[in-house]
Amino acid sequence: MLFNYTYITHDIEKLQGYLDFLFTDVWLFAEGDFHASKLDKNKELYDIYLELDKVDFDPENAKKNEKGKSAYFFNSSIEKIYKAFADVNDDAFKLELIDYYSNNNNIEQICRDPKLPVLTYDDLKSKEANLHKELKAFYGNLYGSESPFNLSDFGSLKTKLLPTHYKEFFSSNKKGKCPFCGIRDLKGIHHTKKEAYDHYIPKGNYPFNSINFKNLAPMCNDCNSSYKGTKSIIGTTTNRNKAFYPYSNSHPAITDFKITIDLNSNDIINLKPKDLDLKIESFGFDEEIEAWQRVFAIDERYKALLCNESEGITWFTSIIDGYNTAKALGSTLTKEQYLESQIIDAKHIPLSSYGFIKSVFLEKCELMGLFR
Ligand SMILES: [Zn+2]
Repeated sequence: MLFNYTYITHDIEKLQGYLDFLFTDVWLFAEGDFHASKLDKNKELYDIYLELDKVDFDPENAKKNEKGKSAYFFNSSIEKIYKAFADVNDDAFKLELIDYYSNNNNIEQICRDPKLPVLTYDDLKSKEANLHKELKAFYGNLYGSESPFNLSDFGSLKTKLLPTHYKEFFSSNKKGKCPFCGIRDLKGIHHTKKEAYDHYIPKGNYPFNSINFKNLAPMCNDCNSSYKGTKSIIGTTTNRNKAFYPYSNSHPAITDFKITIDLNSNDIINLKPKDLDLKIESFGFDEEIEAWQRVFAIDERYKALLCNESEGITWFTSIIDGYNTAKALGSTLTKEQYLESQIIDAKHIPLSSYGFIKSVFLEKCELMGLFR
C-alpha cells in the first residue's frame, strides 16, 4: 500500500470487547452446562443475553423472523461454543489457544512477524473438529447482513455503528484515494454510499478477528472485490511473509517509494503492457511490497493505467500539445523547461492525478528522448 490509514477509536470496538470477554472469561473455563450467570461479570452482555433469550423464535419460520433468528443464533452459539470448549480434554491446547487468540487479534504483529504463531481454521479442525465447527459458524457470521450485531441490542452494527464509524474514519483519513492502489477514489464523508470494509487477514481462514477493526479497512471496490478477494496478504501457513499493516505508524512515506519504469518501445501512442517493466522499491520493505503487489495485482493495474488512452498516453501527448499551446500564448519556456514544470507539478502532490507514477513515466519518456 502506498500510505497508511490512521486508526480511530469508536464505540464499535465494544463488539470485539464482548468477544474478548466470552473467550477469556467464559469459554476458556467452560465446565459442565452453560448458564446465563456465566456472563454476569460483563453486565452489558449479560443483559443483552437475557433480552435476546426472551425473543420468540420458531426455526420453521426463520425467514419471517429475522430478529428471532439473530437472537437465537447469538445465544445458541455462545452455548454451543461453551459446550465445545467444555468437551476439550487437552489442557495444554487450551493454554495454546490463549496465545492464539491474542496473536490472531494482533494484526500489526501478524503483518510484521511471519514467525508469530497464528491459528487457522484448518489447524483447529485437525485438533478439535467440533470446536472448529462451532467457532467457524459463529465468527463467520458476525460481520455482514446476517450478523446478530445488527440487532438494536448491540447498537445496530449495519445501520448505526458502521455508518458513524465510516464517517468518523473518513473525517480523520482525508486523502480521498484508496491507499491499497493509489488509483481509485474512495467514497468519503461527502458521499451517501460507502466502500466495503475489507478483512485484511481473511476471516474465512483465521478465527477470532472478524469484528476486530484493526483487521478491517475500507478499500476501493477494485482492490477489495476484483483483486484481493480472499487472497492472503501474509502468505500461506507454511510460507508466511511480512505485509504492510494498514494502521502502521512506521509505514514508508509515499515519496519513499522508488518506482522505476522501463520502456521497451518508443511508440507511446500504441503502448502495450508488454512494452513496460515496472519496479517498486522502498528500503527495508521488500517483502511487504512483494506481498502488496501480488495480492493487489499492482503491476497489471499500473501498466494498464500507463497504457490507458485517457491517462498514460494523454500524459505524454499533453506535454507536446501543452507546450505548443503555451508557446502560442506567448510563453518563453523551452520545451525542456515546460516538461520540467509538468514533472514538478506531478510530483508536488503525488496522489493527485496519479502524480506518483505520472512523474516517473514522463521522466522516462524524456530520458529516452521521446519529446525531441
Ligand atoms: Zn484500491
